[in-house]
Amino acid sequence: MPRKQKTSSSSLDKSVKSLQQLSLDDKKKNEKKKIKEKKLHLVLDLDHTLIHSTLVSQLSKKEKYVLEQTDSRQDLWRFNKGHSNEYIIKLRPFVPEFLLEANKRFTMHVYTMGLSNYAQTVLNLIDPDKVYFGDRVITSKESPNTKTLDLVVADKRRVVIVDDTVDVWPNDKSSLLQITKYEYFRDGDDNAKLKSYAEKKIDESPENGSLASVLKFLQDIHRRFEEELDSEDLRLLIHDLWKLNIAQGGSPWLRTTNNHVERQFWEFDPKLGTPEDLSAVEKARKSFPDNRFLQKHSSDLLMRLQVLSLPSLSIR
Ligand SMILES: [Mg+2]
Repeated sequence: MPRKQKTSSSSLDKSVKSLQQLSLDDKKKNEKKKIKEKKLHLVLDLDHTLIHSTLVSQLSKKEKYVLEQTDSRQDLWRFNKGHSNEYIIKLRPFVPEFLLEANKRFTMHVYTMGLSNYAQTVLNLIDPDKVYFGDRVITSKESPNTKTLDLVVADKRRVVIVDDTVDVWPNDKSSLLQITKYEYFRDGDDNAKLKSYAEKKIDESPENGSLASVLKFLQDIHRRFEEELDSEDLRLLIHDLWKLNIAQGGSPWLRTTNNHVERQFWEFDPKLGTPEDLSAVEKARKSFPDNRFLQKHSSDLLMRLQVLSLPSLSIR
């Protein structure tokens, strides 16, 4: 009997194993199918786009408290502890949600001018199982001076780049969506007038911050691409849709306590929208001069339509 039991248990093991193998094969097939279906590509920068890292020696006095928080917080990591090149990495708010959502629609790549060891360290934090980026990672090893889509295995018409720096992409600016530079630490800049997020113990808003705005933009691009509402060339779409601008300050008309520095805003494109949207805008536009002596300014329907339809309104 024991012998028989052994045989039956071993055949059960075999069946379980073969079932597991089948489901693994299915999983792999599905993964491949998914990647094939995701025709659009997203190229993401790391530093100041998804993370901010700084040398511990460059932390200001008021920032030093973060060193005590690396064990208790999920968005802070310390490396090379005790060495002169000890550094700290801060994850931008909304990165996990952003990666999860963007991965449903885009094949994602990382493109950084950082060293490959450093890139690997960051990837171990944000994509330990290589679910999002696989081996689609380009570093300073392959691309030491500037960035180029020539090194990305993808049709250039199907690529969106998200980076905080424009100048590093001399030949692919039309594919680029510039994101507000994420600066959590002072980075040794003792003369900076403004306190850093770390000093003020605040952070970018996850729901209304730059990454959330960029995700909305990407989802819109993907939707328009799928519905074939526009050209198949994303480079034209990027320029035709809402444009995320970063205020430089200095405008005599717009004033804030920090002179609008870093404030982001979306530039309205009057051509954007479905025919129904456009006709609603036209109607509202006409109703304003028709009623301007009868209604107060706040009753301006066009203004309200535009404000309500903003993809994101982030005021700092
Ligand atoms: Mg960067």
